[in-house]
Amino acid sequence: MSKTPAYAAPSPGAPLAPFTVERRDPGPHDVLIDILYCGVCHSDIHQARDEWGGGIFPMVPGHEIIGRVRQVGKAVTRLAPGDVAGVGCMVDSCRECDPCRHDSEQFCEKGAAFTYNGTEMDRRTRTYGGYSTRVVVDERFVLKVPASLDPAGAAPLLCAGITTYSPLRQWNCKPGDRVAVVGLGGLGHMAVKLAASMGAEVTMLSTSASKEADARRLGAHGFASTKDASTFSRLAGRFDLIVDTISAPHDYNAYLGLLRPKGAMVLLGVPPEPTPVAAFSLISGNKRLAGSLIGGIAETQEMLDYCAAHGIVSDVEIIPIQKINEAYDRMMRGDVRYRFVIDVSSLARA
Ligand code: NAP
Ligand code: ZN
Ligand code: ZN
Repeated sequence: MSKTPAYAAPSPGAPLAPFTVERRDPGPHDVLIDILYCGVCHSDIHQARDEWGGGIFPMVPGHEIIGRVRQVGKAVTRLAPGDVAGVGCMVDSCRECDPCRHDSEQFCEKGAAFTYNGTEMDRRTRTYGGYSTRVVVDERFVLKVPASLDPAGAAPLLCAGITTYSPLRQWNCKPGDRVAVVGLGGLGHMAVKLAASMGAEVTMLSTSASKEADARRLGAHGFASTKDASTFSRLAGRFDLIVDTISAPHDYNAYLGLLRPKGAMVLLGVPPEPTPVAAFSLISGNKRLAGSLIGGIAETQEMLDYCAAHGIVSDVEIIPIQKINEAYDRMMRGDVRYRFVIDVSSLARA
């Protein structure tokens, strides 16, 4: 076991503060990674504030991890010391159930081992995330990060990237499709870049008129303010696919009105409170309302390789760990352009 500096939320909603976690000595199948960067996902905020319930504290968040491999176990074949490696939202699963055997480890019937706020598959050993200097993970759950990707910009791909790539693939995003992305934050800006790279005609729907120029620079062809009620009549029936990344409660019915018949709206954001959906919002036009949870390990590797081939990384604002509480406050105000990424060397110095 080795003592590892980290930052933790000591209790629900309390400011994050320095903390120490124990990392296991690497076993034969394990990879020991020195963490370079860790992205800050809104799910970190939801969980550190226990907005979804069931949080385990002290909690070390962080599931957008990029680092350099320091050491590998004897049986490890895919990675070697010096490689740039990634770890996303999961660090293990049962590997035997139907979802695990079909590349959907996030739906493991025994419950995947999530990177933090959870346990390893022994269901006793707690997991701690990437707001820390090192992590030890079984090689099956370690991603290879293509050398052409900037490491800080690649960190958010491990959650924001795969979470938006997967539904675009599931709904067969293709040239000419009209795709609306709702909410321009970490997930939203990746959804714009990825959908545009797949040839879709992308419209950004945002509460922040000040983000229009950025949305267009990221690849959006259109922009509309959702604070302007006329947006919902002007764009009614327009979109094949709506990718909804909003982190707070909002009226799904209003957005469903923007779908063309047989169009689909995919929920990615996880507001803490439920919102009623009227049957007529779906029945009028045979519309589909769906959800999507991150992506499996194979699809995450596919996404990283896709991003390397298309020159896509996240637009990041690099912060020292000491600014994490300020970053959370700014994200709550929608003031993020477009992902905070922690420079983990600041933690080693703390
Ligand atoms: P983020 O960077 O904070 O961005 C969220 C954006 O939503 C904001 O920038 C803002 O965009 C918009 N927004 C925020 N509050 C709003 C409100 N009250 N009304 C309307 N719009 C609002 O968050 P993120 O990291 O992208 O995460 C977004 C959500 O996805 C979170 O709930 C997170 O937990 C969830 N998530 C889900 C998965 C999954 O597997 N499904 C994975 C990761 C994250 P504008 O300024 O453009 O309006
Ligand atoms: Zn996330
Ligand atoms: Zn399983």
